[in-house]
Amino acid sequence: MALSGLEIYKLLPKTNCKACGFPTCLAFSMQLAAKKVSLDKCPHVSPEAKAALESAAEPPIKLITIGKGEEKIEVGNETVLFRHEEKFYHPCAIGFLLEDTAAPEEIKKTLEKINKLDFERVGQRIKVDIIAISCKSNDAARFQNAVKAVVENTNLQIALVSKDAALIEKALEVSREKNPLVCGANSANFKEMAKLAGNYKVPLTAGAQNLEELEALVKNLNAEGIRDIVLEPPEKGVAEKVWDLTQIRRLALKKAFRPFGYPTIVFTKSGDPYQETSEAVTYLAKYASIVIMKGTSPEQVLPILTARQNIFTDPQKPLQVEPKIYEVGKVTEKSPILVTTNFSLTYYTVEAEVESSAVSAFILSCDSEGMSVLTAWAADKFTAESIAKALEKSGLKDKVSHKNVVLPGYVSVLSGKLEEESGWNVIVGPKEAAGIPVFLRNLGS
Ligand code: SF4
Repeated sequence: MALSGLEIYKLLPKTNCKACGFPTCLAFSMQLAAKKVSLDKCPHVSPEAKAALESAAEPPIKLITIGKGEEKIEVGNETVLFRHEEKFYHPCAIGFLLEDTAAPEEIKKTLEKINKLDFERVGQRIKVDIIAISCKSNDAARFQNAVKAVVENTNLQIALVSKDAALIEKALEVSREKNPLVCGANSANFKEMAKLAGNYKVPLTAGAQNLEELEALVKNLNAEGIRDIVLEPPEKGVAEKVWDLTQIRRLALKKAFRPFGYPTIVFTKSGDPYQETSEAVTYLAKYASIVIMKGTSPEQVLPILTARQNIFTDPQKPLQVEPKIYEVGKVTEKSPILVTTNFSLTYYTVEAEVESSAVSAFILSCDSEGMSVLTAWAADKFTAESIAKALEKSGLKDKVSHKNVVLPGYVSVLSGKLEEESGWNVIVGPKEAAGIPVFLRNLGS
């Protein structure tokens, strides 16, 4: 159970020596209770107090690492139930289930397909993360070969799926370097699984028929010395599973309930591709840390990755592009200049429409703190003065032989003031980016 600021204060030296950077021990204790500082900032805390304060220093949801190196996955360590309260720190990992009963050529083909699920959207790379290999064959050699094929043919992280510790151990022999996630321990096999996870130092999933059983299983795993745990909620329908995922998250964050202070994993069940996509998006929104699905087609995966990108963006810092002048196509001194904001989605939408018009143009992305055109205008972040300043700073006057700028139609109200401030002629462009191709083609005629 998390300690309050006053409870923490009682355990501190109370000398107000300021070595921690705070004026008093009380101020430090309040920050520690809010998890804004770490206990090691106080050099004078006694070992006894340190032990007692351990729970206050621990994050409410443990951070679990799967894999190694640059492509490793980190899940957990979330601090809020709702994104707008702060932000979600670790994006839900998306992965696929492969069965070892598939023919080796089929496994390779599927891996080739999965490796291509790597996209760029609004200037960011969005990709899938993990492959779960399930031992359906019950054959150690076959399972090991399938795992080997995955290790050799992809950089994605891996999860090993079997309730049989002996089969998992065979797979670990060829994959331990990748620090795979082992799925999974249950109330019947937890001792063997815990021993294996401890020996190979890999994270382990805990799965149960209901939340009470899950709590007992986690306590048993903790008693066996296992701390790197991923919770697998009971197998149920989508609504019930979301309910369980929500209870787990709420108990971890609001009640500091340690047995549920771990990230979660779910496997989709729907056989229909559209249903499976909705199922996966539902889980990643509330509150799965890892979603493993079956369908691997790009049209199924891209909406899921897009939803993830939107949900796991810091709401205080919208996705932004660098505010500067961008050249689209082979620009000349006669090329038109379009003004927009530096909100990524706005910028890339404008850029795509300019590209599709086949008219080369400059796009001046003005610093609007990442807001879209109308939002920035309403917030006084996209004003005649700021656009005039951006025009001046861009050096465009030396790049073009005209003095015309195209303003988004939604802020046509700024045109008079902008002409006054900048000395440029303002042409009011279309309200929607979709109107840009026709507008640009007509502009040149
Ligand atoms: Fe108190 Fe420790 Fe901070 Fe000194 S360093 S003020 S003893 S909390």
